[in-house]
Amino acid sequence: MKFLIPIALFSIFISSVFGQDKYSFYMDLNKISNDLIEITLETPSIKESKIIYNMPKIVPGTYQIYDFGQYVMDFQAFDANGKSLYVNRLDDNRWEIHDADRMKKIAYWVEDTWDADVDELVFEPGGTNIEEKENVVLNNHGFFGYFDNMKNLIYELNITRPTDFFGSTGLTNITTTGNTDKFTIDNYMDLVDSPIMYNQPDTVTFKIAETSILVSVYSKNKVAPAEVLAKDIKGILEAQKEYLGGKLPVDKYAFIIYLYEGVSGSGGSGALEHSYSSFYYLPEMDPTRLSGFLVDVAAHEFFHIVTPLNIHSEEIGNFDYINPKMSKHLWLYEGVTEYFANHVQVYQNMITPEAYFDVLMDKMATAESFKDDLPFTKMSLGALDAHQDQYMNVYNKGALIGLCLDVLIREQTSGKKGLKDLMLMLSEEYGKEVSFKDDELFDKIAQLISPELRAFFANYVEGSKPLPFEEVLAKVGVDFKTDVTIKEVGFGGATIGFNMETQRLFVMDVADLNKFGKKLKIKINDEILAINGKELTLDNLEDVIIDYQTNTEDGEKVEILVERKVKDKIIPVLLKAKAIQTEATQDYYIAINPNATQQQVQLRKTWLGQ
Ligand SMILES: [Zn+2]
Repeated sequence: MKFLIPIALFSIFISSVFGQDKYSFYMDLNKISNDLIEITLETPSIKESKIIYNMPKIVPGTYQIYDFGQYVMDFQAFDANGKSLYVNRLDDNRWEIHDADRMKKIAYWVEDTWDADVDELVFEPGGTNIEEKENVVLNNHGFFGYFDNMKNLIYELNITRPTDFFGSTGLTNITTTGNTDKFTIDNYMDLVDSPIMYNQPDTVTFKIAETSILVSVYSKNKVAPAEVLAKDIKGILEAQKEYLGGKLPVDKYAFIIYLYEGVSGSGGSGALEHSYSSFYYLPEMDPTRLSGFLVDVAAHEFFHIVTPLNIHSEEIGNFDYINPKMSKHLWLYEGVTEYFANHVQVYQNMITPEAYFDVLMDKMATAESFKDDLPFTKMSLGALDAHQDQYMNVYNKGALIGLCLDVLIREQTSGKKGLKDLMLMLSEEYGKEVSFKDDELFDKIAQLISPELRAFFANYVEGSKPLPFEEVLAKVGVDFKTDVTIKEVGFGGATIGFNMETQRLFVMDVADLNKFGKKLKIKINDEILAINGKELTLDNLEDVIIDYQTNTEDGEKVEILVERKVKDKIIPVLLKAKAIQTEATQDYYIAINPNATQQQVQLRKTWLGQ
């Protein structure tokens, strides 16, 4: 017992000399003024006389330079007596502090990015929001920084919040005292990887196999409750679980969803991936209309757990927040992820092969607006600067590279393996903590599957040849053609639009009516209620129209029920005429080949799962 006192004294002595070896940050969400919030930091002990405090120039997953330091102001550093230390701001993102060995505290104010007055707004899922008493989005890299060579210390966030606020996050080490939540995080990389959204909670939790899922929704006008959106997410996660071999690769995962009112500040909407969560910035709209979009985006973000989170090169693994270096392999990180997000839906029977082919044709058409002869590896290396305007092609051509690879792998392994099996092999070979060398990946894949794949990468990913869709799809008994003339029945040459107010299709223009349109006597502003007795709803709209356009024979009786304004009255009118097919050119045509060989059919089944 008597040794206790000297030990205790000794430990006090130690702590007063060496201070603490962690970052302790404090912020109070009750004290917001002019969209600004004050951050204070009890600094870890510093031995150097000068040290640089950094805010990131860029963060993983965004592939865009944002300079988060530009949102920081009134930066001050203090010693133990509260005396100011000299600070030299080196650039937007870095502050050099003098007499740093005496430093005890830093304080600064942060402005949110979502409504900042800057030339190019941060893509919201990677930015920050400060809305007093409503909502605070902490993408932590927008608030908290790090000292040079000290990214691996523990981070402690002490966040005081309004009593009725809840912080939604994928973080697990949380203790709450009164109105203050304390998050303890292993290092800066994990801090950046873990957004937190504070607001009055609307949350749902459920389990998929062994994984606990949180769905948290903020919607100012309460248009889409978490309960409803969680159903969509549950559906796609069940499919992803099967796709990934029966279980999900994490214990806990949070879908943090912010639904915005009106128009998006940056002009974009979407999401950003993390290891244990993803953050969504989507328009406030009726859940039935949001559903398809949410499923696609959620599937994409969740699949990012595979890559880049568990398969990545050194450029991503040792991420440099100040001098970012790009990897050649965006075709993998974004392309394969996007490919999986769509492919899982056909493979697990959520959509038909025809609906899946439509997705592929859409991507082919969108890819046309990008430079097809720019090698994808080169685009990837230049995504932050020289080829920034080509980046969005990762979701189109990138995904189509994934498609070709999946089919080729199935061919080379006689249907035993596919792209998802290759990803599993690569994540076992590397993983979250082990990066591959950018230059070695193609050889590694060829070694794991077949030398044939090396030639594919050389020609179509490192090279500038257009992807060989016809040749690849033929292997799985699927026809591919371009510029095909098709016969279809339309709306008689009328231009059709969508009325946001009534949520119905309506006739925008009748200047180019053809014979069929004139016989129907279709008029401008007619709102379409039903086609051939099938009532149009937001849910079935696309299916009914496609079915009508492609399956109506020449001469068949057509009935279109519209609502029309006649003088001051709105009345239903039934338009009738015999269908007249017209010729149209379709840029792309993908369909099952009815004359495929047994072998092709077999391989197609392994690819489509149906
Ligand atoms: Zn992505």
